[in-house]
Amino acid sequence: MDLYTLTIKQARQLLDNKEISSKELTSALLNRIEEHDDGIKAFISIDRDLALSEAKKADEQIQADKAGLLTGIPIALKDLLCTKGMKTTCASQILADFVPQYDATAVSKLKESGAVIIGKTNMDEFAMGSSTENSSFQITANPWDNDYVPGGSSGGSAAAVAAQFCCGAIGTDTGGSIRQPASHCGVVGLKPTYGRVSRFGLVSYASSLDQIGPITRTVEDTALLMNVISGYDKSDSTSADVGTPDFTKALDLFDKESLKGMTAGIPKEYLSVEGIDPDVEKIFNESKIILEDLGVELKEICLPHSEYVVAAYYIIAPCEASSNLARYDGVKYGFRDTGSQDLIEMYKKTKSKGFGQEVQRRIIIGTYSLSAGYYDAYYGRASQVRTLIMDDFSKAFENCDFILSPVAPTPAFKIGENIDDPLTMYLSDIFTLSANMAGVPGISVPAGYSSSGLPIGIQMMANRFDELTLIKAGYGFEQALCLESKFPKI
Ligand code: GLN
Repeated sequence: MDLYTLTIKQARQLLDNKEISSKELTSALLNRIEEHDDGIKAFISIDRDLALSEAKKADEQIQADKAGLLTGIPIALKDLLCTKGMKTTCASQILADFVPQYDATAVSKLKESGAVIIGKTNMDEFAMGSSTENSSFQITANPWDNDYVPGGSSGGSAAAVAAQFCCGAIGTDTGGSIRQPASHCGVVGLKPTYGRVSRFGLVSYASSLDQIGPITRTVEDTALLMNVISGYDKSDSTSADVGTPDFTKALDLFDKESLKGMTAGIPKEYLSVEGIDPDVEKIFNESKIILEDLGVELKEICLPHSEYVVAAYYIIAPCEASSNLARYDGVKYGFRDTGSQDLIEMYKKTKSKGFGQEVQRRIIIGTYSLSAGYYDAYYGRASQVRTLIMDDFSKAFENCDFILSPVAPTPAFKIGENIDDPLTMYLSDIFTLSANMAGVPGISVPAGYSSSGLPIGIQMMANRFDELTLIKAGYGFEQALCLESKFPKI
């Protein structure tokens, strides 16, 4: 058996039965990374020795029958999560040598449950982008076809899961960065409700929209990782004290009847979005039939302010980013330009050299939109639109259990195809941004392939703190479709 093919659940069983060791599993994945990551470039950093020594400790725990949920299971982390003693670059030159003093809460929780951190994955710089081409280190290729992007910004995490470099991974999602790369790479990705997972130790992009979530090979594995990373944290003032359900338990009790009587809302505004690829439309229509066969009732619903989502997001996110990124001034952290005559010149040169083009573009848009005289017209107005979008979602969930939509208007595009056209890139987020604006959870589940063999997912969004519905519906869909064991040949 090739150990790198194992899901988290399968690995857990084999480890617990002592049929395999974590050292064997971790080595198998590290070897596969060594052999194939040159062509994919999913990872920014790997610490082979550390991973193997963690695996050894995990094996001791397992031998002593003290295994936690993830003891001995190799997990990859987006390089936006702080890891104590391990470089956290955010794929930016400005943090190229930054080594945090502490772990993000989600990372501590993973470690406490025994996970082996196999490496830090590539991403768009500071999570700004939809293709992972904005990394200042390397471009990640889609494991299904290396000429194509893996999506972004958590493209490294999604590619690492698809390429079978890790059993599961963690990404972050500010406007789609878990769901869209999951869709483009043929894996499962869940953006939790805002507040469900602590953001402490997550390097901020747009704080009111950012969420950490799992990227895995199966919905069951997503549920498992949710059990580990969710929960109230007093170190994050926006973390919600709502209790954590057992996300896997719902699946233990799952049967053919479980989705019967559920209602899926299809937003009528989404059907008229321009530029939807015919393959995406075809798979979306097929997915509706699969859900209907499972007993889900489909219903047209309204999200009347959908047409303003992209415009409002691309004001709010850059505004928050311009404020969050002000701290990288050459004094407090990371890179500093040393050839300057005075402080102002040092600030200018540090930021010009340390930040890539897209990050600078967002800082400028955000600073402009927040400046006196423009604040009301841009940030103020975008915030009002955000409230209307939230209301749309609250009303929609009075009539349905979850909302069904495509994840992105097209399958993965070619590397370089959209890089000089930020507006086209921004428009590709049309179906994912609103979940962040409304704070609701969303899942992307593999749903089929384009005519050229690239994966396409579907998205389900549920009411705040109702991830369970997404996990159940996603699981039912995945089981009915039976695609989950198909992985790219790399
Ligand atoms: N593509 C969106 C952006 O560039 C979303 C990114 C994300 O979710 N981190 O802002």
